[in-house]
Amino acid sequence: MGKTFQEHLSSVKKAIREVTVEDVKKLLDDRAAFKLIDVREGEEHSAGRIPGALSVPRGFLEMRIDEKAKRDERLILYCAGGVRSALAAKTLADLGFEDVSSMAGGYGRWTDRGFPVDRPFSMTREQKERYRRHLAIPEVGEGGQEKLLKAKVLLMGAGGLGSPAALYLAAAGVGTLGLVDMDVVDLSNLQRQVIHTVERAGQPKTASAQVAIAALNPDVEVVQFQERLVSQNVLDILEGFDLVVDGGDNFPTRYLLNDACVKLGKPNVHGSVYRFEGQVTTFVPRQGPCYRCLYPQPPPADLAPSCAEAGVMGVLPGIIGLLQANEALKLVLGIGQPLVGRLLTFDGLSTRFGELKLRRDPGCPVCAEGRQIEFIDYEQFCSTAA
Ligand SMILES: [Zn+2]
Repeated sequence: MGKTFQEHLSSVKKAIREVTVEDVKKLLDDRAAFKLIDVREGEEHSAGRIPGALSVPRGFLEMRIDEKAKRDERLILYCAGGVRSALAAKTLADLGFEDVSSMAGGYGRWTDRGFPVDRPFSMTREQKERYRRHLAIPEVGEGGQEKLLKAKVLLMGAGGLGSPAALYLAAAGVGTLGLVDMDVVDLSNLQRQVIHTVERAGQPKTASAQVAIAALNPDVEVVQFQERLVSQNVLDILEGFDLVVDGGDNFPTRYLLNDACVKLGKPNVHGSVYRFEGQVTTFVPRQGPCYRCLYPQPPPADLAPSCAEAGVMGVLPGIIGLLQANEALKLVLGIGQPLVGRLLTFDGLSTRFGELKLRRDPGCPVCAEGRQIEFIDYEQFCSTAA
């Protein structure tokens, strides 16, 4: 007479070795000592898996195990509850694997104990809908959207360039946006700084921008830095961000940010506008020039236009700020050709783009090989009306 499944299972369990989830937890730190094999089927992984586990679904066990493990290695198998892994352990022992055990209780008991798991990225239904037009682009897709949602972009300035950049980066689903701006919203800003509103006049620009971003895309976390960027805080502020979009309106910040980005190896998408003209370029440390390769020192304060004098057509920062956002998105996604070593210029009056080649200066005071970078706080004055 044949055995029932329960009888079969108990004879299998007698023939193999079982380990507890606590045993496996202790072993996790010593990865070289064993291999952890997840024998669950593909769709079961969506809830997560034990960190470092290799996936060999039981349905493919005999076919695929040789790709993942050798016969003299110590193997620990797990499934959802401990039954399939026990059967799989028996199968592997029969195939000549010398040291196989099954984790009793499986992934279910592992998570009941609150032990660590790796959860795969998965978009909510709402996110799939929100980013549908991104998902439809092969160069973006779910993988690209995941990169965007995990990206951290620091915006220097929530003004003319920062407003369009912040809005579109938020709309694109860049998960974390840092905003550095110490100013408050003024009526004269609204001609171009479209992230702010009349009602929010008088509020800090970082707070006003956060309101607009939250209303547009609740996926985005905004980190406010309502302070001036100076040598004492620049490293703390930049820490944790993947790249910087420089929409700052003054030389001291521009130089300090450049020097800090070179020091930390972070890309810096630089933009500036003046009257009808704008320009944008992307500084990627070691790959192309930095700002000081082009302008080693700021001009003397009395030669630069003051904040009040520098006018700008309201749409100009919109155009340049969005080109900066485009650069930032490409850098996050790792696609296309960023404006490294290229200065894109735009003339709003003739509606013409131009491009200039930029070269690294081997004698650059900050990005030349072997330079010690010391931060400088230049005297504060405005350069252009960003
Ligand atoms: Zn340089």
